[in-house]
Amino acid sequence: MEKVEIESFTLDHTKVKAPYVRLISEEQGPNGDIVSNFDVRLCQPNRQEIPTGVMHTLEHLFALYLRPRISGYLDCSPFGCRTGFHLLAWGKHSSKDVAIAVKEALKLIITTEWEDVPGTEEKECGNYKDHSLFGAKEWAKEILEKGMSCDPFERKIV
Ligand SMILES: [Zn+2]
Repeated sequence: MEKVEIESFTLDHTKVKAPYVRLISEEQGPNGDIVSNFDVRLCQPNRQEIPTGVMHTLEHLFALYLRPRISGYLDCSPFGCRTGFHLLAWGKHSSKDVAIAVKEALKLIITTEWEDVPGTEEKECGNYKDHSLFGAKEWAKEILEKGMSCDPFERKIV
């Protein structure tokens, strides 16, 4: 079988300093369109992990708050390790601009009311019972206190 190299697994997770935003790749499609893929790391790998209910609520709220802040926004999906999210967008973007957008989204999460969390009804979500807005707010505060860096190895807080 041909060896598949996956960039995310070549990153030395012991060397990074979370929270940060890192450009993973800019993929070009057959028609020349570019899709950017970012590593939005919210907590330190192998030191902390965000509970699943919190990841779930963050996912719903990132969909609400990041889309209007990043042109060509496609998706923001949780890592299985629960330390962060993949963020995909059409076109090229700087890590700094994405980090600023994530910071703004986290600030908004702190003041979000349950009624404003999108897609929390049974017909709208695959596991509507597993949400924690309280946890999302507490984690957002902790991440903001540490500061969002636009570099994974050096603290360059935006
Ligand atoms: Zn859901």
